[in-house]
Amino acid sequence: MSVFTREQVNNLVDGKLDWDTTLRMLQTPKDKERFELYLSVLQDKVSWKDRIILPLGPHLYIAQSQSTGQWVNKCSCGHEFGDYRHNWKMDAAIYVRDTPEAMQEIYPELMAPDTDWQVYREYYCPECGVLHDVEAPTPWYPVIHDFEPDIESFYKNWLGLPVPDRAD
Ligand SMILES: [Zn+2]
Repeated sequence: MSVFTREQVNNLVDGKLDWDTTLRMLQTPKDKERFELYLSVLQDKVSWKDRIILPLGPHLYIAQSQSTGQWVNKCSCGHEFGDYRHNWKMDAAIYVRDTPEAMQEIYPELMAPDTDWQVYREYYCPECGVLHDVEAPTPWYPVIHDFEPDIESFYKNWLGLPVPDRAD
């Protein structure tokens, strides 16, 4: 049994957990029950039924497609970005802040980075418009592929849980 209640994990996900409990939660060794509870809290927040394998961000998940059995990158709204090994950013709606005017929308005057050296790339869901990620690279730097999580060993070796099935 996890030492934290479903309501506490739910509040953590919503950013509403009190600081004492958050701290206690961070200091306790992770347990597989807590991971399963965490996933089930996330699962309750989405309207689709595909099983969440791993959260990648507040609105982005790796999920197991019910229809194909494939693992896909999926937005909380249900939009799919394709196979989980594919860089989902390539299929996102991208807004590049590469002018002083665009930077001034988010920075006070004179505080913004020099856009000759640094730009912001914002990656949005093309369906619901939620912001999934922001990069701050030099203008000529290619789109960054964050990481390809080793889900098999995370489930098997870290959590001691059976690895979810995957169809390729
Ligand atoms: Zn979306």
